[in-house]
Amino acid sequence: MSWSSKLFTIRGIPVRVHVSFLLIVGWAAYIGLSAGEGGWRLSLGGAAFMVTFVLLLFACVVLHELGHSLVAQLFGIRVQDITLWPIGGVARMAKMPEKPYQEFLITAAGPATNILLTIGLGALALVWIGPDQLLRLVTSSWLLSRFLSEMNGQALLLLLTANNAILALFNLIPAFPMDGGRLLRSLLAVFLPYPTATRAASVVGQVLATFIGTAALLAGNIMLALVGLFVFMAAWQERQQAITQGALAGLRVRQAMQPVGPRLHPLQTLSEAAAQAATSPQPAYLVVDGGRLVGLLTRGELINAMRRAGPRAAAGAGPAARVGSHLHRDVLQLRADDLLLAARKQLQERSAVMGIVVENGQVIGTLSQLDLARLVDMLRAHPQALPRG
Ligand SMILES: [Zn+2]
Repeated sequence: MSWSSKLFTIRGIPVRVHVSFLLIVGWAAYIGLSAGEGGWRLSLGGAAFMVTFVLLLFACVVLHELGHSLVAQLFGIRVQDITLWPIGGVARMAKMPEKPYQEFLITAAGPATNILLTIGLGALALVWIGPDQLLRLVTSSWLLSRFLSEMNGQALLLLLTANNAILALFNLIPAFPMDGGRLLRSLLAVFLPYPTATRAASVVGQVLATFIGTAALLAGNIMLALVGLFVFMAAWQERQQAITQGALAGLRVRQAMQPVGPRLHPLQTLSEAAAQAATSPQPAYLVVDGGRLVGLLTRGELINAMRRAGPRAAAGAGPAARVGSHLHRDVLQLRADDLLLAARKQLQERSAVMGIVVENGQVIGTLSQLDLARLVDMLRAHPQALPRG
């Protein structure tokens, strides 16, 4: 279940909205309702105003994501979809751009869209509201809040203009996961290797996030402090991702796979299985019946099943004590010549602890997320530990 539904398709890109997006529409309606204190007519008007504002603002977010997407398509990168979340939009690309200048242009197209919108909407406001009044509004916060509380078309236009400017500026903060972080990385990648550029950009992001977070805490702004924390963690995650990708690049499953560990039988009791698997380094065990693979039992699943059954029942004859009642049947199959990075992605996407490596219909080894983590640790210390092809 994806919890999102498709709104429309543009240039072959499905634009989807996540169900949690309804939260923000409801919140906007609530704010609007409570803003109109002069009876139900005003309240309903306020709610309609706020909901219209939120929907139009998210239309601008769709345009921002389309900006990224259309430039990506120019470079032959397929855009899988655009999804609207309460916190913003996400355009998923089938692959990363190859050249730094491509990443720069794809990323810059997002904030550039908001800058163009700010200019366009601002020009419209200049014509409709008039330069004199506009000047008075931007110089007096009291006049401005009175003007906005009218909740009419002019107020809507002014709010949209200002929010597009904020979107552009916010996205240009040079920290992951903001566009600014990617822009910085692509600039650094012109004269640094890509993983090094990512590490440098994420350090800049973390320093900035620490600065913003500390300043916000001192000023008592908890929301902004949380944003600082979020940016700090996102930058850390981006760096870990870059380190892992750099370490595993060009390596094949064959080079990292492990020998098949203990093989369990579906009719074995849990305690027999535990005795057989206790000292095995494998995080999951193949369950085999007459030479045929029937499923996989992870170490965690075995331990949980033992705990639930208790030591007496785990040795008993009931069906709950059999390995066959606890295994899972859908097992990720990998090939020995698959790239490790692709295998890792598959393991993560399926939340699989371990996959099996199959060659000519035979299971010749296993590969687990734990194996990969250990290998990354080793390769970080010595990148030439394995030959790359
Ligand atoms: Zn963006």
